[in-house]
Amino acid sequence: MPEGHTVRRLADRHRELFAGEPVAVTSPQGRFAEGAARLSGATLLDTEAYGKHLLHHYGDVSLHVHLGLYGKFADGDLPVPPVVGEVRLRMANTRHWLDLRGPTACEVLDPPEVDALRARLGADPLRADAKPEQAYERIRRSGTALAALLLDQSVVAGTGLIFVLEALYRAGLAPTAPGRTLTPEQWRELWADLVDLMGKAVLSGRIDTVRPEHEPEAMGRPPRVDRHGGEVYVYRRPGLPCLVCGTPVSRGELAGRNSYWCAVCQPLAAS
Ligand SMILES: [Zn+2]
Repeated sequence: MPEGHTVRRLADRHRELFAGEPVAVTSPQGRFAEGAARLSGATLLDTEAYGKHLLHHYGDVSLHVHLGLYGKFADGDLPVPPVVGEVRLRMANTRHWLDLRGPTACEVLDPPEVDALRARLGADPLRADAKPEQAYERIRRSGTALAALLLDQSVVAGTGLIFVLEALYRAGLAPTAPGRTLTPEQWRELWADLVDLMGKAVLSGRIDTVRPEHEPEAMGRPPRVDRHGGEVYVYRRPGLPCLVCGTPVSRGELAGRNSYWCAVCQPLAAS
């Protein structure tokens, strides 16, 4: 599933391609025909990313998209290409077209519904209006594993498995450590690191989490080969040596997801 940096990049791109002009909106597949009819002809004013949610604002209504596991956007310059596959939403202005296929959510929301969506999302490290102290209030009262709390979009929004596991590694915190063991200072540093890592990913379009001294050239090792791209410490590296201490990276299941960590660099406190 795309993490928050991908959604932010989409919001920025859609603003660049479409904002300020009326757009024609259709649903070639038909499943969004009613919503498309409500939007078509309106001027896209702005776009917004909040966690993994994308919003296109048209003034009195907004388009809400959540890509989920299979959703994908494609765009290009006119002419609009023939429809291929199940295109839920197609939009075009005088210069560009955009197709959306396979999203989990594609719906029109009115302002109170947009407010309700924002209200159920936690602190997004990519947003200037994020309130990390509210996220910490949830974390410090919880016996749930840190990794599960950081993946809970009502606590922190936009973070997926890669950012969460990598940030925990960089902080030396075990993914299974209960939230209540996290000190304010540890949270301050973890949050700052998420802001930094995700901000860099918005610029580069990939997730790189290794420090300069652990990059392939610095260590004389081959670059990582993985469809997710990016240089990481533990994500999807089970059994491979930890880049810092050489211990084979561990894998386990946590909240129904695979979890990866270094048992030496991220010890679980005895308490
Ligand atoms: Zn290690």
